[in-house]
Amino acid sequence: MKHKNQDKISVITVLKMHWRAFKLLDREAPLMFLGSFLHESMNALTPYVNVYFSALIINELAGDRNPEKLWKLVLITLIANAVAALIKAGAKCFKNWKHEGGWWQREKIYGDKLLSLDYCDVDDQRTHNLRSQVSQNDNLSQWGLYRIKIFFDQLTLSVFKIIGAVALSVSLFTLKVPEGAGVFTVLNHPLFLLGMVLALLCVTWLAPACSTKAGSYWVKTAEDMKQRNRISYFFGEEVSRDRNRDLDMRMYSQQDICERYYDTADIFGKKTAIVKAAAGPMGAWSALSAVFSTLLTGIIYLFVCLKAWAGAFGVGSVTQYIASVTALAQGLAMLLKNLGEMRNNAEFLKITYEYLDIPNKMYQGSLTTEKRVDRDYEVEFRDVSFKYPNTDTYALRHVSMKFKIGQRLAIVGMNGSGKTTFIKLLCRLYDPTEGEILLNGINIRKYQYDEYMSIFSVVFQDFKLLALPLGENVACSKDYDREKVTECLIKAGFGEKLKKMQDGIDTYLYKEFSNTGVSVSGGEAQIIAIARALYHDAPFMILDEPTAALDPIAEAEVYARFNEIASDKTTIYISHRLSSCRFCDEILVFDNGRIVQQGNHDTLVAVEDGKYHQLWHAQAQYYQK
Ligand code: ADP
Repeated sequence: MKHKNQDKISVITVLKMHWRAFKLLDREAPLMFLGSFLHESMNALTPYVNVYFSALIINELAGDRNPEKLWKLVLITLIANAVAALIKAGAKCFKNWKHEGGWWQREKIYGDKLLSLDYCDVDDQRTHNLRSQVSQNDNLSQWGLYRIKIFFDQLTLSVFKIIGAVALSVSLFTLKVPEGAGVFTVLNHPLFLLGMVLALLCVTWLAPACSTKAGSYWVKTAEDMKQRNRISYFFGEEVSRDRNRDLDMRMYSQQDICERYYDTADIFGKKTAIVKAAAGPMGAWSALSAVFSTLLTGIIYLFVCLKAWAGAFGVGSVTQYIASVTALAQGLAMLLKNLGEMRNNAEFLKITYEYLDIPNKMYQGSLTTEKRVDRDYEVEFRDVSFKYPNTDTYALRHVSMKFKIGQRLAIVGMNGSGKTTFIKLLCRLYDPTEGEILLNGINIRKYQYDEYMSIFSVVFQDFKLLALPLGENVACSKDYDREKVTECLIKAGFGEKLKKMQDGIDTYLYKEFSNTGVSVSGGEAQIIAIARALYHDAPFMILDEPTAALDPIAEAEVYARFNEIASDKTTIYISHRLSSCRFCDEILVFDNGRIVQQGNHDTLVAVEDGKYHQLWHAQAQYYQK
């Protein structure tokens, strides 16, 4: 049965897909393929040096036995071998050097793509499914982009093997059996020779054809393997390596439930489609391939021995012809096998390119958003509604509001009421489904994206720090203004902790890269994230639940210092703790994706049937003095 997708890819498309893979990797790792070419061509050709000279030596030994000629032949053989080995070793060094890090360059291609995607696509589950499928194909069975390296090596090897073998075996077909050899003179007949060549080609083709057929079961079973590989990757790689899981593992003996899922006998056992195929048709095709390979060797031996027996050439040439015709058949088989496998690999490359070709659909404007010294920015949401991609419900509905330079704006509301979504739209991580967002009267879509983004410093709830020195974390750069970093850390409230750090702002966070690295608590990490936002010095500073991980004292300190922290920036402060809003000029109350109230604390709390009043009194016990 033919795989239905496999029929759709033409040979030209298969070649084009691999050419693209070649160019992609070549761009990331220049000269890597030159290294492969040099090494594999030498790999293919060096054995022929011995084959050729050994035949001459044996012929001389079995013939004239001239000592001077023999001595010269041995010397030439040694020198030729030494030179060939030297060139091959040099080529290998060059190849290894150029292949260094090739694996990571492939990962870089995938990583760069993820970073260049529109955020809405990064957030899309389908993107993650594709990305994880690409990785699984690559890592677990070496199918996809990286396989071009194997193909390139093997194709170079096979082509040079064929060239060398043809050069050494042509005379097998041209040297004639003497006329007096009786019935053996049939070996000279052009039709016999033609039949022989055809038989050799046919059997040579059959072996790799069967092997490719066996390989096609990888494609057919890919779907079944997808979930199994995911389970294996999650439990085998992620869970076992993630030290953050260690506490829960111990407290709840999670290993028991993990082991139930991560039973390799179950995941990759008898029920697996690939195992079933290997025990059935896939195994049969592989065995048949081996049978044809053996048959081929038999035919070669028979033909060469018959010609030698009939006196077409000496005994030394028997070794040359057997070795070269066998190498010719191997070279052809390898060439055909790899061309066949390229067809199988095209199925996997299709997934890789589906991922790499996810388009950037967001409109990129051209207007500049220069950082104005006067920070005179006005932002307006004009009847904005928004649905997340692939969902039917509105996360925001008819949101209209304006905020001006230097304002302290708070956004409050229950969980899921749309606060973070509002910020994501403001930062243009998504475009509104309906309505528009304006900066100084112009739709934000018309601004250059990167420049527009640079006017915001956001501390998201799920921010991440890097296991790098504290200063580099704050500045997000290797070269930075040390004084400014220190100042931002102190402003954000990290001063006391900083004094205790042995290497100051050069102290590594976490232990990944330094044994003396410092593990910071959730609250401390949040303060560092606030310092990072301050260092960025953008006119808008947005804090999304910035105090969620802080203890009450630290939280009170952040509030007390907030005006100083924010200085002349326009700040937007998201919280479900209403105490944090009192100092804000304006409060937006979100409920079910709508702004239901707007005003300052005193006016809002006075509206007794309002949402704010309700929320305030629900939390009042925590705040009232
Ligand atoms: P809040 O910040 O007020 O807690 P959010 O803005 O995060 O609320 O969420 C508003 C609504 O949008 C919720 O119903 C939430 O489930 C939904 N939502 C949030 N993020 C996504 C997403 N990436 N895809 C689909 N729905 C989402």
